[in-house]
Amino acid sequence: MPTHVICCKANISMFISVVFSLIVIALPPFSQALESTRVVYIDTHNHMVGKWSMGQFDFAQQERNSLETMDRSGVKLSLLMPMPQTVNQRMLLKAEDLFPTAKKYPGRFAVLGGGGSLNILIQQAVKKGRVTTAMEKKFDARVLELVQKGVVGFGEMTAEHFSMTKEHPYESAPPDHPLFLRLADLAAKYDLPIDIHMEAIAEEMAMPRRFKSPPNPQTLKPNIDAFSRFLAHNRRAKIIWVHLGWDNTGQRTVALTRKLLIENPNLYFSVRIASGMKKRRVSIATFPLDTNGRLKSEWLSMFQEFPDRFILGSDEIVKPANDHPSAGSIHSTLGILGQLPSQLKSQIGYKNAYFLFKLKE
Ligand SMILES: [Zn+2]
Repeated sequence: MPTHVICCKANISMFISVVFSLIVIALPPFSQALESTRVVYIDTHNHMVGKWSMGQFDFAQQERNSLETMDRSGVKLSLLMPMPQTVNQRMLLKAEDLFPTAKKYPGRFAVLGGGGSLNILIQQAVKKGRVTTAMEKKFDARVLELVQKGVVGFGEMTAEHFSMTKEHPYESAPPDHPLFLRLADLAAKYDLPIDIHMEAIAEEMAMPRRFKSPPNPQTLKPNIDAFSRFLAHNRRAKIIWVHLGWDNTGQRTVALTRKLLIENPNLYFSVRIASGMKKRRVSIATFPLDTNGRLKSEWLSMFQEFPDRFILGSDEIVKPANDHPSAGSIHSTLGILGQLPSQLKSQIGYKNAYFLFKLKE
């Protein structure tokens, strides 16, 4: 689709609405989420990756790919963020690499920061086994810099991140690490949420066999008690535990989610229904949909019981050819909206995200 750069805001929105109405006419509806032909939803967790040339990333094609899928699935705004990166990261990507996209398409993209800086500082501190005053100063300064540059939150952070491929590192940090607690205080101070990726390990377990060890460890240590300490450290810090619905340990159950929601008023979840789940052999028991693609009743009950604690975060990794295995997650994630009662649909679809990220409608 010819989504060119247009120089003024009015033209952009006019162009997008024309393009969108053409798409709506030209394409058959592909999900129940499209009951509404309006582009209203907020997808709070996405990434762009690509080639580095002349000292910067070129995301022009990724932007076009994103806008096309956003328009088709009813997403008005996509939140982009650097992935949680580690020490000696190749092709380091920071929030600064994403700001140009948000500037080019105002109202369509906004940026979270920290995955390419704060998360690395935490990984360094874990490896070092302590936090020095100099590290604290550097951490605080980077948080302030991100805030001043206009991030809408801190992410993607991680406390437990499995390596899926060679380019995708294994990362682990106690969720109650001193720098995570420090981030909670800073997030409260600046009133910006923290977006955190963490595989759920309620009890010690062997690494699921479909993940290679090394780089992944053979045994996984419990992290839920430490995560609870992180949540309790500063109740004014809003913490989003991302990728609910994409469970790689089999321990991220509705029971655990409900328990943590009850205990922690500052905890939120972004829901991800990844594409190609059957093929990728994820835990079926904790997957939100049944084999017919219907939202399981225990999931719907939980959404209804806590309507203001869930948002969408499809975790698309957008490449120039749009051929990453996660491509399509925006459709599968937005697809659950069509199965929700209308008020819940607007809360999870966008209202909660406007509140959490302090976005202007
Ligand atoms: Zn993630």
